[in-house]
Amino acid sequence: MKFIIGNWKMNGTTSDKELLLKSLKNVHTDNKVIICLPFTLLCGNDFGTTIGAQDISEHSNGAYTGDISGQMLTDLDVKYVLVGHSERRLYHNETNQIVKAKATAAIKNNIIPIICVGETADEKNAGRTMSVVKKMVLESVPNSGAYIIAYEPRWAIGANITPTPDEITAVHETIFKTLRGIKKENTPIIYGGSVDAKNAAVIANLDHVDGLLIGRASLKSDTLLPIIKSVK
Ligand code: PEP
Repeated sequence: MKFIIGNWKMNGTTSDKELLLKSLKNVHTDNKVIICLPFTLLCGNDFGTTIGAQDISEHSNGAYTGDISGQMLTDLDVKYVLVGHSERRLYHNETNQIVKAKATAAIKNNIIPIICVGETADEKNAGRTMSVVKKMVLESVPNSGAYIIAYEPRWAIGANITPTPDEITAVHETIFKTLRGIKKENTPIIYGGSVDAKNAAVIANLDHVDGLLIGRASLKSDTLLPIIKSVK
């Protein structure tokens, strides 16, 4: 079983959601499919697909205008949440410490955080991928509880370019060893960044790759379904 996790980002209306989730209903797969929707679409899921959120407040309640708490997500039956996506780190100044606090808040509410890490193009070109990713993992994970790590090189997101299979394997192995060092070696490690129907099966079957995080190609059934079907 591989995780196939969609990230809708700031896209989609109720009819888009209905169209996609209806089409997923008839797909037979051993993979665990999760669609991370914007907050506005989290309410009312009659289609059977597991839904996730894209962010969670590190606070439990109170004067935090515009934020959404773990309790509010649990109330809508949300089981997974993305934390520390590179767009949150970039546009909302989320540090590893904030990401850790958000992941901890998710676990407190029985929601599994999908903790995103990944190097920038400059860091890759400087040969710093492994040290950057290792530090992000160690500083972003909660002290206890179950979580998923998503390796998303920033330069591959939305770019129609992916690392080579060898590069992905090497980074995932580093993440695996880092997690083993804190006795979390059973943590799923998924890859994200320009996954499509052409590269999904190859990437998903690499060593230490337990699934995929998919942005653009998760928005429509004609791009998402071939990915789900190709990953065995
Ligand atoms: C993402 O933003 O999490 C992502 C993987 O995007 P894309 O698949 O569009 O590169």
